[in-house]
Amino acid sequence: MSLKLYNTQTRTIEEFKSNIPGEVKMYTCGPTVYHFAHIGNLRTYVMEDVLEKSLTYLGYKVNRVMNITDVGHLSGDSDTGEDKMLAGAIREHKSVMEIAEFYTNAFKKDCERLNVTWPQTVVPATSCIDDYIKFVQSLLEKGFAYIAGGNVYFDVSKLKDYYTLTNHQADEMVVGAREGVEEDFNKRNQNDFALWFTKSKFESQELKWQSPWGLGYPGWHIECSAISLKYLGEYLDIHCGGVDNIFPHHTNEIAQTESYLGHKWCNYWFHIQHLNTEGGKMSKSKGEFTTIDLLIEKGYNPLAYRMFCLQSHYRNPLVFSYERLDGAASAYKKLTNKIENLQKSATGELNKDLILKYQTKFKDALENDINTSLALTCVYDVLKDENLNSNTALYLIQDFDKVLSLNLLQQNTAKVNDDLHEYILQKIELRKQAKAQKNYALADEIRNELTKQGVTLIDTKEGTSYKIN
Ligand code: AMP
Ligand code: ZN
Repeated sequence: MSLKLYNTQTRTIEEFKSNIPGEVKMYTCGPTVYHFAHIGNLRTYVMEDVLEKSLTYLGYKVNRVMNITDVGHLSGDSDTGEDKMLAGAIREHKSVMEIAEFYTNAFKKDCERLNVTWPQTVVPATSCIDDYIKFVQSLLEKGFAYIAGGNVYFDVSKLKDYYTLTNHQADEMVVGAREGVEEDFNKRNQNDFALWFTKSKFESQELKWQSPWGLGYPGWHIECSAISLKYLGEYLDIHCGGVDNIFPHHTNEIAQTESYLGHKWCNYWFHIQHLNTEGGKMSKSKGEFTTIDLLIEKGYNPLAYRMFCLQSHYRNPLVFSYERLDGAASAYKKLTNKIENLQKSATGELNKDLILKYQTKFKDALENDINTSLALTCVYDVLKDENLNSNTALYLIQDFDKVLSLNLLQQNTAKVNDDLHEYILQKIELRKQAKAQKNYALADEIRNELTKQGVTLIDTKEGTSYKIN
């Protein structure tokens, strides 16, 4: 099998082909750091983490970039309302940059607790102002943008197809936060969007920069496009976000980026469905939401929440309740207890055939549009299989946990196992080289050294494997 992913743009499950074979350029929209991330936001980041780790597991080298939105995201997604960062600063009597730093660190801590790996490149939006200005200037020169009332807007009427992600179906569009929607009379078309603001009702905007159009600040959409181009180049493989980002954010990103480049930009759009409460969408702007801190306060292990996320497919909406989380927490505890018991009596030689069989099953689950619940089932199947000795079962579970990241083996033991495995493989390789050079004394010395350390080498026609005594 090969990797298949659902692509929002084509509304089909497609075979994944990266622009450069073996490499993936992946962009993920980062958090707006005006408040704590809620567990809904974190569902999106858990699933993006699983996607990145799945790609790596499947052999790709992943180059992933994420922005931190610290300016320009207004309380209404259609360029209305005040800047969310400013609202956060006013709420907490702090400066915007203090708010940004505090909530970026809080988000980082949440990611750590959920075993979400911090992306290789993380870029605060305020660090790329010159790039936005150049981008906007070029759109003006190419005739895709206009100045009105002091602001610069993108003119959607210049495009053949603006709704490439939404297929003109209003009911298919998952529209983001719409509170505070007001008509902006500067716009020529209803869907035109701001690229750069110099005039807004909110003159108290704290962060402003000089630009050819006056003192102002960038629109939210231009940030992701410019950061992606700067760090990942003109051809992007995968762009991710929650479904509320489909319209207008990602629709606008495509409009401006492809107008700027003059060619197709991103091949796969990967969107994660929302985590909802029983009363509807969980949202930061509603003010009441559940955080990882709250779950910890209530006695939950954050990884039980990760397990809760993995039990469902990323394209299905997920309803959160404490009762459901209790179910995941109890399954997680049972699973880790079982594995812990297995570790106490770890014996047996690694069985290569069975390793391959289960790794293939696990890969198939990932390749099937990142089917995490099937991938989790592989762990249970390994534990159930009586033909698997405990060392082979533990080896497989540790291998699957590279993607699941549930600390299925006690973290320290896992690290030791990993290091030991690497060490033994290196020794086997050195012994092979010694034999090839007819240095049998050295080859024997390596074998004896390992024997003393409790490792028996087994030579077969296919090569050398080992057994831990
Ligand atoms: P924000 O901090 O509002 O910019 O959102 C950060 C990420 O969380 C974005 O990718 C959103 O699409 C995503 N998101 C927002 N609300 C939810 C939710 N209830 N469930 C899952 N993801 C969400
Ligand atoms: Zn974005």
